[in-house]
Amino acid sequence: MVDLNGQYDAIKEQINSSFETILKTSAFINGPEVHSFEKELEDYLGVNHVIPCANGTDALQIAMMGLNLQPGDEVITADFTFAATVEVIALLQLTPVLVDVNPDTFNIDINAIKKAITPKTKAIVPVHLFGQCADMEAILALAEKHNLYVIEDNAQAIGANYTFSNGKKQQAGTIGNVGATSFFPSKNLGAYGDGGAIFTNEHALAYTLKGVVNHGMYERYHHDVVGVNSRLDSLQAAVLRAKLPLLNDYNAKRRDAARKYNKAFKDIPHIKTPVTINGCAGICDTCDCHVFHQYTLKITNGKRDDLVKFLGEKEIPCGVYYPIPLHKQIAYKNDWYEDIDFPVTNQLVKEVISLPMHTELDGEQIDYITDAVIGFMKE
Ligand SMILES: *Cc1c(COP(=O)(O)O)cnc(C)c1O
Repeated sequence: MVDLNGQYDAIKEQINSSFETILKTSAFINGPEVHSFEKELEDYLGVNHVIPCANGTDALQIAMMGLNLQPGDEVITADFTFAATVEVIALLQLTPVLVDVNPDTFNIDINAIKKAITPKTKAIVPVHLFGQCADMEAILALAEKHNLYVIEDNAQAIGANYTFSNGKKQQAGTIGNVGATSFFPSKNLGAYGDGGAIFTNEHALAYTLKGVVNHGMYERYHHDVVGVNSRLDSLQAAVLRAKLPLLNDYNAKRRDAARKYNKAFKDIPHIKTPVTINGCAGICDTCDCHVFHQYTLKITNGKRDDLVKFLGEKEIPCGVYYPIPLHKQIAYKNDWYEDIDFPVTNQLVKEVISLPMHTELDGEQIDYITDAVIGFMKE
């Protein structure tokens, strides 16, 4: 599904030399690499504050801790996402309220959010799934109307842009009150281990978050709030510093692969290619609204599982993200959900299949993959 070696070859010298410096100086924690990365990512994103931390799940949790949400506060998020999003809500004893998603973009559905808002709702957590922003303009308007926080789960869309109806563009993760991302190796900006970061434009919130990541300390050995220990280490920061200047190229290569896939599948019955909505008309040729963390098809003739098996036999990797809606997961089942409230996720889990997507895919590999898929569908 991913090929991380090709990226390493291109940045080997820089990474090896910064690793050597870190090993020589033993600046493993909070070293200069971490601080430089923080600044460089702030510049890239055009955001006031980047707070690095240990992983994307922590980033989400810390973002919620920084907003001082209280047990019982309701937090609305998508039923169709990686479990980390809902996990941290539950861990903090907040009440996760799962809602359905849009069948074209796979992102949280605005009407479903509207229906789920109660006097106890305190926050909305849109997930920019597979590399494309949720409908942020509508979400911000709803949040303003109901006085809610917006926490973006940007683990899958770093480098994506969102275009507002007035033409203004903003980087994914910097649009709501706070954003969280992951530098897990297979994410679009991946470290060689775990890493994550929190973004915000709000100065007071940034100050709070910087204490929360560090045991609630604002002054050495003074613990003002209950915090966590969550750090990005210097070796990971060095990797990320080497990759950040290449992120736009990486994302362009992903889009290029997506375009080739789209072209091949365009007229094939029962295959629905990904839909990009923000700022472009369908197939993303020039804009950066989608960074294709995953390239996800819908197989609409009920043969998805057979296709997975067929590709497996041909040794073509593929993945089903996600096979079970969160409202059906044992840990997150809840009496107030009715299965009929989730018609879209219930359908998507049966139809989605993600094909190999990374920065090293070449035309020949894509032809091989698309020929196999098309051959199967035409059988
Ligand atoms: C990867 C991911 C996370 C968690 O990131 P980790 O760094 O693995 O903790 C959270 N949300 C989404 C949508 C993700 O894809």
